[in-house]
Amino acid sequence: ATPTALLVGTGRGAQLGVLIKGPEILEETRRVDTVVLDKTGTVTQGRMALVDVVPAPGEDAAQVLQLAGAVEALAEHPVARAVAAAAAERRTAPEPVATGADGVPVGSDEVREFRADAGHGVSGVVRTAHSGVGLARRVLVGRAGWLADQGVDVATVTAAVDAAEHDGATAVVAAWDGRARGVLVLRDPVKPTSAAAVAELRSLGLRPVLLTGDNRGAALAAARAVGIADEDVLAQVLPADKVAHVERLQASGARVAMVGDGVNDAAALATADLGLAMGTGTDVAIEAADLTLVRGDLAAAPQAIRLARRTLRVIR
Ligand code: ADP
Ligand code: MG
Repeated sequence: ATPTALLVGTGRGAQLGVLIKGPEILEETRRVDTVVLDKTGTVTQGRMALVDVVPAPGEDAAQVLQLAGAVEALAEHPVARAVAAAAAERRTAPEPVATGADGVPVGSDEVREFRADAGHGVSGVVRTAHSGVGLARRVLVGRAGWLADQGVDVATVTAAVDAAEHDGATAVVAAWDGRARGVLVLRDPVKPTSAAAVAELRSLGLRPVLLTGDNRGAALAAARAVGIADEDVLAQVLPADKVAHVERLQASGARVAMVGDGVNDAAALATADLGLAMGTGTDVAIEAADLTLVRGDLAAAPQAIRLARRTLRVIR
C-alpha cells in the first residue's frame, strides 16, 4: 500500500464530510457486510416532539406535563429534551416572583435527588409551590415496564401506551406516589436522507439492521420508513445489550459496521468491526468510533464505504 494513495482517500473523505481516525481503517471500511443502525438520532432526527399527553383517569394533563418536565429538564435524552421543552412552552405566564410559606419561590419547581437510568427513565423529588405550599413528590418518568418493576401501578395507562406504540410513537409514563399519572406521547421523524442512504448501503451489498432501546412499534415504523425488513429490527434493547447484539452478528460470521450517536451506542461502536459516529452525536460516541459522519447525515456512510473500496483498488 502506498501511503500517498491512502492519504488521497482520507483527504477525499474529509471533503465528503467523513473524518477517519487513521488510514488503516480503510481496509475494514471496505470489508464490512452488515450495518447496524441505531434508530434515535441516526435514522431519525433525534429531535423528538411531544404530540400528546394522555392523563390517567382523574388526573390533570397540565400537571402531568409540568411535573414530568421539571425532572426531565435535568436529563439529556431526546425524550427528556422534548418533554422539558413542551413543559416550559405550555407553562402559563410566569407568575409573580414571591416566596411560599416554605421558602420555595411560588411557581417554580425544585428537583432533588435526580437520577437518570440509561435506557429506562428518570426520577427526582419535585417540590412545587403553586399554592404557596410546597409539596414534595417523588416523580418518575420512563418506560412503563421500568415503572412497574419499581412497584408503580401502571394498569390505568397500559391501553394508552399500547395504542401510541402501535401507532409508531414513543410513549413514556409519568408517575408519583406509586401510581401512573399519565402518558407522554412523542414522535421522532426519520431524516429525509435516511431511506436513500439505506438503499445505497444495500446496493453496496450490506445488510441493514435497526437496533434501538425504543419500543417495537416505534422501531418498526422507522424501519419501514427507510426500507429495513421487520425481521432485521431489534427493539427494546438495553444499552448494555447493544454490544451483545453486535457480538452475536460477528459470531455468525458477519463483519459488522455500527452507526450511532448516543452515549448508549459507544460500547457497541467500539465492539463493531467498524464504528461510525454521527458528528451531531455525543462526544463519547465520536471517541469510540473509527469514522465520524461530520454532518450527521447517514448518506455519508455509503459514500465512505464506496470511497474506501475505490481507494484500495487504486493501491493494489
Ligand atoms: P435509543 O436506543 O432509542 O436511543 P435508549 O436506550 O436511550 O433508546 O432509551 C430507551 C427507552 O428508555 C426510551 O425509548 C424511553 O422509553 C426510555 N427513556 C430513556 N431515557 C428516558 C428519559 N430521560 N425519560 C423518559 N424515558 C426515557
Ligand atoms: Mg441514538
